Amino acid sequence: MRITLLNVLFACLFCCSLIGQDRHYQLKADRVFDGQDFHDGWVVEVKGNEIVYAGPERRGNFDQVIKLKGHTLMPGLIEGHSHILLHPYNEVGWNDQVLKESVAERSARAVNHLKASLMAGVTTMRDLGSEGAGYADVGMKQAVEKGVIPGPRLLVAGKAIVTTGSYGPKGFHEGVKVPLGAEPADGYDDLIRVTRDQIGHGADFIKVYADYRWSPDRKAAPTFTVAELKTIVEIAESSGRYVVAHASSAEGMRRAIEAGVETIEHGDGGTREIFELMKREGVAFCPTVAAGDAISQYTGWNKGTDPEPERIRQKRASVALALEVGVKMVFGGDVGVFPHGENVIELEMMVDYGMDAMSALRIATAQNAEQFHMDKLGQLKTGFWADIIAVEGDPSKAISNLRKVGFVMKDGVIYKHVK
Ligand SMILES: [Zn+2]
Repeated sequence: MRITLLNVLFACLFCCSLIGQDRHYQLKADRVFDGQDFHDGWVVEVKGNEIVYAGPERRGNFDQVIKLKGHTLMPGLIEGHSHILLHPYNEVGWNDQVLKESVAERSARAVNHLKASLMAGVTTMRDLGSEGAGYADVGMKQAVEKGVIPGPRLLVAGKAIVTTGSYGPKGFHEGVKVPLGAEPADGYDDLIRVTRDQIGHGADFIKVYADYRWSPDRKAAPTFTVAELKTIVEIAESSGRYVVAHASSAEGMRRAIEAGVETIEHGDGGTREIFELMKREGVAFCPTVAAGDAISQYTGWNKGTDPEPERIRQKRASVALALEVGVKMVFGGDVGVFPHGENVIELEMMVDYGMDAMSALRIATAQNAEQFHMDKLGQLKTGFWADIIAVEGDPSKAISNLRKVGFVMKDGVIYKHVK
């Protein structure tokens, strides 16, 4: 019953706001975070899908003045590492999701994931691979863009590229044909073909696995050679796209940096030398701290009671080192490993791991937008697209206030307004 009522309410908000798409709004809260700094006494004005003013309160003729008392207005959150086609591994393990859930089921789940994300104030997501669901991510993106389903703006990777023999699911008789979580390709010609094929199927950027847990002791070991990685980057860049690398080992990270990727995902084994190299080369770091935390808990760690396992201690150390060196950071939790809509846990943990709250707010908005080449997003500024949220209280005082989302507007359309 509760779900039904919520759905009705949601549907109403969705169509009412669609009808009012060209309305001229003035949004007024207790304060404004514009993606860089906080301002008291500011308002934000929206016409159609564009921010037409952000500055000190002024008079004007508006179709509607929306007052959000007790709230902070800010840009919609930009999630940097999601998997809309995965759901938490404590519900169904990754292997079984890839092997036993049809693309139809996974897409149906993704509809719910996208809605939960948008309602949590996430207005853009960089989705890092369909994990065996082909180009369903491209289809989900198109469904959102056409207004078929509500959801954040999506940047999608498609299948992602792995070397032959590295990625799972694994452990089957050689006669069993197993769907893989990503697309294998090796060597110059094959990598050129597969990179171009993924681009042709709608990948906004290319994701490559620069290492994987395939050493004899199941530790992360490099996969591609530097020459192979450079081939992928060359082909992607010549089409105007960038490459991101999954890498946990120092050598995997080093090869990816040398090849010219723009962001490194996970990076648990990053050394001072590697982080200094990243800083010099302008490669950004997405540590995905929330995923490791979730997986450790799924595998028996009682957080808060038991001592922190080695995996968590290593993550804390790598994040602290990256912050100390001054590497550009990316907000992205690997959401999907943990529940969609719980994106803010990554920011809470980044603050717990040593990042100050202002930096956390900046990476979640203006900085991620810049990193992902979205030059009209991530700031409340005249001429920017109207992706705006309001959260209760002041998130610079307590980052968890980002969980209390009272208002969501994407592209000038209001999707949530708690009165
Ligand atoms: Zn991931």
